[in-house]
Amino acid sequence: MAATGSDPRDVLGRPRPPVSFELFPPRSDAAALALGRTIDRLAEADPAFISVTFGAGGSSRDRSLTVLRYMLEHTAVDPMAHLTCVGSSHQEANRLVREFLDAGVTSFLALRGDPPTGAGPDGGIGDLGSAAELVQLIHRVQEEREPFGQIGVPGVPGASRIRERPRPERVAVAAFPTGHPRSRTANQDVDALLAKEIAGATLAITQLFWHADDYLGYVERARSAGVTIPILPGIMPVTTSARLARLAELTGVEAPAELAIDLEIEPDPEAQAEFGVAFAANLAAGVLAGGAPGLHLYTFNRHEAVLGVLARLGIGVSTQLVNERNTAR
Ligand code: FAD
Repeated sequence: MAATGSDPRDVLGRPRPPVSFELFPPRSDAAALALGRTIDRLAEADPAFISVTFGAGGSSRDRSLTVLRYMLEHTAVDPMAHLTCVGSSHQEANRLVREFLDAGVTSFLALRGDPPTGAGPDGGIGDLGSAAELVQLIHRVQEEREPFGQIGVPGVPGASRIRERPRPERVAVAAFPTGHPRSRTANQDVDALLAKEIAGATLAITQLFWHADDYLGYVERARSAGVTIPILPGIMPVTTSARLARLAELTGVEAPAELAIDLEIEPDPEAQAEFGVAFAANLAAGVLAGGAPGLHLYTFNRHEAVLGVLARLGIGVSTQLVNERNTAR
């Protein structure tokens, strides 16, 4: 299945690599208002999907759902829900997946999530031990919910005929080009990705990385091991040195020295942002040249830097094209 939306075009109306974005749910009313505006701006770039993160242990469930519903009701973008299963019983995970499907969400990023620190003797993992089990559960819940599809008969009001069972649009999973912080060998991450594909994943999205070769080498290893699903590179334009340091801490991926120095010594915030955008655009160009099937951009809930990356790559969407598209919808 395709990783992306249909026929995306650049400023000149030429076909362009599909792009997608990641957001996190807002933590206040003011942030929610600002996020609505960010989503509207991101939607103009005609992304294949916009994904919304899920707080550890389901802490952001309602806020994540609100953002996903906003996209369903106010944009033409396919919203993708991150879901984590750590600490859940089978029944709780089943209920969670059903709730999101009932809300109209059909694209998911299935994650195991991180066990809480100081968890009990079972490690706080819960009934589902890995993301692969959640992938399987998403498909199972969808099948139980809708064992077969129905389609209206044109010209015959009220009549319908049976068609193939509907499947979730996308069931994505995480991939770790520079290794999961807890994995013992590079092969373990490739094996985990293969297991997720066999369980029914249709797309992989990578953790941040800073060198095109990290991504390209990982894709090569994954292909040699038999992984066939598209592997979307996850890229974030980082525009402050504090954020760069925090990301290194969170992901366990060491920050690139040249960007760290540029951000550290440059006093002007606008010039700092330019460094971050230029670095990300360069990285994006490298992975696209190596065959990446698109770009997944981490937004940090701001549109300026990610749209700046697309503009630098020459694959931003023109205002005229956006207006034409909106009129046609
Ligand atoms: P899994 O794929 O189940 O496993 C992770 C790693 O553990 C594997 O790569 C492998 O090295 C090892 N492993 C797995 N199974 C086995 C096995 N059977 N034997 C040996 N080793 C094994 N977290 C959140 O809480 N909310 C989010 O919204 C969120 N979004 C994310 C989005 C992306 C794109 C990425 C890359 C990560 C995200 N995370 C999020 C973080 C993620 O939950 C953590 O990295 C978590 O530790 C692992 O989740 P996973 O789905 O990769 O787990």
